[in-house]
Amino acid sequence: MALDANKLADVYRRVTSWRANPEASVQCPACGAAGLTVIDRSARPYAEWYALSCPSCGLDETLHIPLGPSAQIAD
Ligand SMILES: [Zn+2]
Repeated sequence: MALDANKLADVYRRVTSWRANPEASVQCPACGAAGLTVIDRSARPYAEWYALSCPSCGLDETLHIPLGPSAQIAD
């Protein structure tokens, strides 16, 4: 299952608030159920990586956000 850009932006906001408060549950961007599993695999300061999985609907996504000035370099 792929998420569109709007849903990715939405889930990124949720993950950002989850990082501020890791005990809060994250809502699944696909089915809306609470309890999304978020695993932070980020390689800071280069990139943020989150593995997202939902036990309710089977969502399995990776969220990748390039960080820093190198993110603007295409080659
Ligand atoms: Zn779900």
